Amino acid sequence: MRTPIIAGNWKMHKTINEAVELASSVSDATAVLDGVEVIIAPPFTALSRVAEALPADGRVQLAAQNCYCEGQGAYTGEVAPAMLVDAGCSHVILGHSERRQLFGESNELINRKTHAALDAGLRVILCIGETLDERESGRMFEVLKDQTAEGLKGLTPEQMDQVVIAYEPVWAIGTGRTASADQAEEAHSFVRGLIAGLFDKPVSEKVRILYGGSVKPDNVDGLMAQQNVDGALVGGASLKADDFARIMNFSVEA
Ligand code: PEP
Repeated sequence: MRTPIIAGNWKMHKTINEAVELASSVSDATAVLDGVEVIIAPPFTALSRVAEALPADGRVQLAAQNCYCEGQGAYTGEVAPAMLVDAGCSHVILGHSERRQLFGESNELINRKTHAALDAGLRVILCIGETLDERESGRMFEVLKDQTAEGLKGLTPEQMDQVVIAYEPVWAIGTGRTASADQAEEAHSFVRGLIAGLFDKPVSEKVRILYGGSVKPDNVDGLMAQQNVDGALVGGASLKADDFARIMNFSVEA
């Protein structure tokens, strides 16, 4: 019912030429893919060149890893949503835990960015997820509730068609430690329930919820077999064309 999404977050990796090469390999690997949306998020510097290099009728969609919440102005170092559209992006990742933790982004700022990105015509991949300390101290559901409710504040049900949620437990990002399929399913079904409460059941049934946190070729199938896991946001493994191709070709057959 929900088309799965496999998205690669390249973080601060790849020069322009390297990015074009990897994007072309990903694009080639989608030639035989069916029923899966594929998104890649190269660094800002490579976006427009990657957009030019991807075949116009191809299957790979382009995301940025961040944007600012204003359209233009004196915001040194920031990038406006419309600039990303101009560079060829269809999506933007917002609220990644590295932005929250290393750059102090609050739920309020992420919400403003979400509105600005949607207003500019971008689709948003909104990341949420608890730290290990929050999980171990029993605050996981509270944190997920705050990040979801505040991140999506003021959006209409129609705008939710342009939003994808990525549940990324912080303790699983870049650590090689993946949430078990059961842990992922528990969080995803909780978040879907939250969205039903914030909007309505049809919105919650439509929204794609991706899992992120050390997704690899050898664990993607188990994660994707969960009812409420609609895809993956992949960091490290998206930098290797073969690994990402295997992840795109996940199999939920027993
Ligand atoms: C991420 O940064 O979104 C991520 C999930 O990274 P990794 O797959 O490397 O854990």
